[in-house]
Amino acid sequence: MATVLKDHLVSDATRRFLDRAGNLWINGEWCAARSEKTFEVYNPATGEIIARCAAGDRADIDAAVHAARYAFESGSWSRMTASERGRLIWKLGDLLEEHGDEFAELETLDNGKPFNVARAADVPLAIDLFRYMAGWATKIHGQTFPISVPYMPGSEFFSYTAREPIGVAGQIIPWNFPLLMAAWKLGPALAAGCTVVLKPAEQTPLSALRLGELIEEAGFPEGVVNIVTGLGETAGAALAAHPDVDKIAFTGSTEVGRLIVEAAGKSNLKKVTLELGGKSPNIVLADADLSAAIPGAAGAIFFNHGQCCCAGSRLYVQKSIYDEVVEGVAHYARQIRVGSGFDAAAQMGPLVSQEQLDRVCGYIEAGIRDGARLVAGGRRKGERGYFVEPTVFAGARQSMKIVREEIFGPVVAAMPFDDPEEVLSLANDSAYGLAAAVWTRDVTQAHRLARRLKAGNVWINCYNIFDAALPFGGYKESGWGREMGLAAVELYTEIKAVTTRLA
Ligand code: NAP
Ligand code: MG
Repeated sequence: MATVLKDHLVSDATRRFLDRAGNLWINGEWCAARSEKTFEVYNPATGEIIARCAAGDRADIDAAVHAARYAFESGSWSRMTASERGRLIWKLGDLLEEHGDEFAELETLDNGKPFNVARAADVPLAIDLFRYMAGWATKIHGQTFPISVPYMPGSEFFSYTAREPIGVAGQIIPWNFPLLMAAWKLGPALAAGCTVVLKPAEQTPLSALRLGELIEEAGFPEGVVNIVTGLGETAGAALAAHPDVDKIAFTGSTEVGRLIVEAAGKSNLKKVTLELGGKSPNIVLADADLSAAIPGAAGAIFFNHGQCCCAGSRLYVQKSIYDEVVEGVAHYARQIRVGSGFDAAAQMGPLVSQEQLDRVCGYIEAGIRDGARLVAGGRRKGERGYFVEPTVFAGARQSMKIVREEIFGPVVAAMPFDDPEEVLSLANDSAYGLAAAVWTRDVTQAHRLARRLKAGNVWINCYNIFDAALPFGGYKESGWGREMGLAAVELYTEIKAVTTRLA
């Protein structure tokens, strides 16, 4: 589909991709939506249209699920040897590495994040994820059990479990890490032997479509992965409600997470995993190494423009160092260079959309209205594109909207505390439980807090450390299940217990 990209920002390879991109990928074929509808994709740095993508809906989801079902039942994937499956996933990692620059360009163009960040973080993390998951393909196995069966004295049995792929997985992903979220979802599903229908976010469909091309090039059988771009309310909802989808994996807002659960319940009780929002506490104790904790606290909230489910958006600082830390983080905020992600000097790009810009600005206004003290940022930056200043609020209170709700932007609310017991109850006083961090030189205190923080991920003297091997996910309303690690692979399997009578 023709694009209307005006700026000469990207390589020829990406330009050629943009000229052909925009179709759905179903059963190995690139095709328009059955309705022939399209939607526009914008460059958030300029507001310009960069592509038009097929607006898949129920009919396309139906076709994609059918293809995934056929690929699963025919055994072209689920009965391929584990070693061969692993080799294909590894090959996908290799192809991604070969085309790394293109993917970083697409992320910058589509999502707005700085090219250098996408190139250093999103792309290598995605490559590594596929390689890590490729290894699991040959290591998914069951156990044997010495069963006793007390009501059948004298009998003997041989019992074992097998882990089988769950079947057809529907995967719905958000716009904050478009490529990486696709990798987090596809990697474990493919390692387990599932087939997939993936729906990228309407704001950022491009890198998933390019990934589809690489999946094709790697030689995955047709129908193993299907990609249906479209709107959440139509394509996403149809996937969640589809009676022939065995599992739905969703990352996004808690609000939509609830709709997914409802749709799963009303259709076929498909298995559900959810990676939802967060309002993560970042705790700085008085004995912390502030030369690490201050930049760490700034990075915790400003990385990816605060558009991270695990962003350190509640900054709790022990009273004696509160002013110093708040001023230190504010100083960082003021220094951050905000600009187009293609500008090599830019450290922070635009928010993803006008909607997110309005939403984040609305929260900043709420913070001011509720009486928090603005110490850095607080305004939209420029007139063109969706830029906002890195923002620090001091003197926030636990009851404020900016402390309770996920902002999903570069806005941190700082609050003082007296002692570790107090900060534990403040930190845990949230509907969310995705991540938390503690900065201290006291090892015992760090682990005592880590043990009692209600969060799926706790970082000590660091923040935003991710690895394909480490399970990631949330307590409470932050989600169900885990991404990455063996934990994610197991969530794409069913356990079958088999028992044979021997005597
Ligand atoms: P969202 O609506 O939850 O979108 C996430 C994904 O779900 C997208 O692919 C979306 O499709 C799809 N979707 C939307 N409505 C759906 C429905 N009824 N049924 C099935 N799928 C549906 O998130 P958003 O609107 O992009 O952002 C809103 C807020 O969500 C953010 O401000 C942030 O607080 C939170 N969020 C969290 C994460 C995270 O990583 N946990 C990521 C993104 C956003 P469309 O994009 O096509 O609508
Ligand atoms: Mg949405």
